Amino acid sequence: QNILGIETSCDETAVAVYSRQRGLLAHQIYSQVALHAEYGGVVPELASRDHVRKLAPLIAAALAEAGLSRADGIAYTRGPGLLGALLVGGAVARGLGMAWQVPVLGVHHMEGHLLSPLLEPDAPAFPFVALLVSGGHTLLVAVEGVGRYRQLGTTLDDAVGEAFDKTAKLLGLGYPGGPALARLAEDGAPGRFVFPRPMLDRPGLDFSFSGLKTAVALAVRDAGPADHADIARGFEEAVTETLAVKCRRALQETGYARLVVAGGVGANRRLREQLDAAATAHDFRVYFPRHAFCTDNGAMIAHVGALRLPGDARAACAPDPMAVARWPLHELAPPGA
Ligand code: ATP
Ligand code: MG
Ligand code: FE
Repeated sequence: QNILGIETSCDETAVAVYSRQRGLLAHQIYSQVALHAEYGGVVPELASRDHVRKLAPLIAAALAEAGLSRADGIAYTRGPGLLGALLVGGAVARGLGMAWQVPVLGVHHMEGHLLSPLLEPDAPAFPFVALLVSGGHTLLVAVEGVGRYRQLGTTLDDAVGEAFDKTAKLLGLGYPGGPALARLAEDGAPGRFVFPRPMLDRPGLDFSFSGLKTAVALAVRDAGPADHADIARGFEEAVTETLAVKCRRALQETGYARLVVAGGVGANRRLREQLDAAATAHDFRVYFPRHAFCTDNGAMIAHVGALRLPGDARAACAPDPMAVARWPLHELAPPGA
């Protein structure tokens, strides 16, 4: 049984085929980064239109790569995300489902991210703590199984990826800012700029990144271009240390011994180093998806489809509305529940 996965929640058009028996058979991605670069951020209407242009050829390419002419089920990202962009994926998924007479499932984008480390050969067993760090989310989640998610903490203001992107903008780096800032930080001296570690002195598992952003803005104002790499380094150290400390706290609170990291910021090298070091020092294991599956991709959506189709009869009817801009993760239930 082969599941076609379609992701169009933001600025990546992505398609994959996941086989229940053989695992991932194909994945194709088209990034709109160049399209949005001149505007310094994602323009929703342009994103929708570009998904319309790119989605059908990408589906054809993914099916060809998998050596298939059709799939046995379809999973598409139903939300959260940009409504117009989501509707493109939803409409195409439902149309194909009708044509092929196969079930169609609307997948939660963050569940896709959350379970993406399971796509890797050395997959974590349940239960685990998941750190979801992306452009729109910063979540610590206790995961007992598919659809059994308990939110432990979230951000009170900016998401981590958003903080990376805004800080990159302050430093005059182009869009998308996160990877550019990380590259600049490689050349920076550690410890020259020490920024606040937000909320570390307070109990609990919530985050806040807007104060850090302000501290960086002040430093940038008083510094010259020659200091930018050091500032980037200081920012990155503050963020990754904060994340690492909260992850450890979440593991202690739950008593779990496995940590999973997903979402675009999971591609950050310093974060990986910090968490690897913490795992060695404190005797837990940490799991990352490969870089390509940290940011948006079709494989994670096809994978959730394989886990939830066709057992989830209710979802298989692709409940209305077809797309939702907001969708709290805790509303999900286990397959068939
Ligand atoms: P969401 O999943 O919350 O809807 P999104 O899909 O836009 O948001 P992702 O594609 O998962 O988010 O991740 C994109 C984010 O990851 C951006 O904010 C980007 O700056 C950040 N990012 C990507 N690579 C790196 C890196 N190496 N270091 C830091 N941040 C990074
Ligand atoms: Mg993106
Ligand atoms: Fe995402």
